[in-house]
Amino acid sequence: MSSGTAVAVSKTQLDELNPFLSMSKRFDTAADHLGLDSGVREVLRTPDREVTVAIPVQMDNGQLKVFTGYRVQHNFSRGPCKGGIRYAPDVNLDEVRALAAWMTWKCSVVDLPFGGGKGGVICDPRKMSMGELERMTRRYTAAIMDVIGPDRDVPAPDVNTNEQTMAWIMDTYSMHMRGTSTAIVTGKPLALGGSKGRTEATGRGVMLSVREALKKMNFNVANPRVVVQGAGNVGGLGARLLQEQGCKIVSISDIDIAIYKPEGLNMVDVLEFIKKHKTLRGYPNVQQLTHAEQLLLDCDILVPAATENQITSSNAERVKAKLIVEGANGPTTAAADAILEAKGVVVVPDILANAGGVTVSYFEWVQDRAAYFWSEAEVNTKLEQVMVRSFAEVDATAKKYKVSMRIAAYILAIDRVAITYRLRGTYA
Ligand code: GLU
Repeated sequence: MSSGTAVAVSKTQLDELNPFLSMSKRFDTAADHLGLDSGVREVLRTPDREVTVAIPVQMDNGQLKVFTGYRVQHNFSRGPCKGGIRYAPDVNLDEVRALAAWMTWKCSVVDLPFGGGKGGVICDPRKMSMGELERMTRRYTAAIMDVIGPDRDVPAPDVNTNEQTMAWIMDTYSMHMRGTSTAIVTGKPLALGGSKGRTEATGRGVMLSVREALKKMNFNVANPRVVVQGAGNVGGLGARLLQEQGCKIVSISDIDIAIYKPEGLNMVDVLEFIKKHKTLRGYPNVQQLTHAEQLLLDCDILVPAATENQITSSNAERVKAKLIVEGANGPTTAAADAILEAKGVVVVPDILANAGGVTVSYFEWVQDRAAYFWSEAEVNTKLEQVMVRSFAEVDATAKKYKVSMRIAAYILAIDRVAITYRLRGTYA
């Protein structure tokens, strides 16, 4: 084995970065608080079904390429599985498993009648044409046809998938079913039965979580300084909504770069720039930072809204924010939780903070099934009610059990799923 300059990574470090182990650690802590018996504990932590499929795709150059796709259904005690599909080169089964479990807890925290699922395809969408993406999406849909459905499992967008991806899934499923099935996916274009307010729903939920957290912390600074990691649907739109609420967005990043402006960025302008150039690189009159530097900036609020494992045992001690609101799924490792807690940093966990997206997905599913559509104001008002109520319930649970908001959210979520599971019983 070559010694080279490679940095040795210990098993502990690898384990810390395994999202399923990270999820399981929090699950165990919450289950201990609930005194959950070992049988139910095992049922609730084990994914109900994991499907791996081969997806052959004719590429534009005429060659056939086989992609690997997953759909994991973690738990459907409370209703059909619900959760997004992501396209990325580093998708793997342990990640999809963790994301599926997080969907179960997320839907439960905000009390939606859904279980949790997640899908992923290993691919690099930035290097694929629209035609290739369409053929891959349709073949993936056909491959998982038997396990999805409006009453079984309802996919939605996630990292690198969008309205168009959902439109292809909806059409492929509908063609197989010989009828138009709108409730098969959420996050669809409005013209296909999408919901008003869905695109910005996750960002809106993040903004509401920030607002509720600041109230709880009695944090009365006029224009809190916010650092946002990620400039997509969650980070970008969330930052714009936070700015509308009086926050000063001092830094934002995308996959290429982080930009910093201590006086505050104009988010409308930043989003225009990204739309036009497809990158933040080259945005004028700002300092450029690396992603690692961005997370350690002096600020009041940090919103990690990109991907997993950003705040770890290696940088948590140096994070300066007083409040972290997790727009992404799993941005903080379980090892980092303890460090942040000891520093007194308030963390609004992913399964609460980013639940706005799936909440409006639920509204979309309800509207599709009723074939009756709501106004944007109605959607936003109902979303606000769900987020405010859920935040208060998590906060009350944290006080009752004397735990962090993260463990409180798990306690609340696991308890609800366990109650349903016990009532339904074990079919033999
Ligand atoms: N992908 C989003 C999430 O992680 C939305 C899932 C959904 O709407 O089903 O919450």
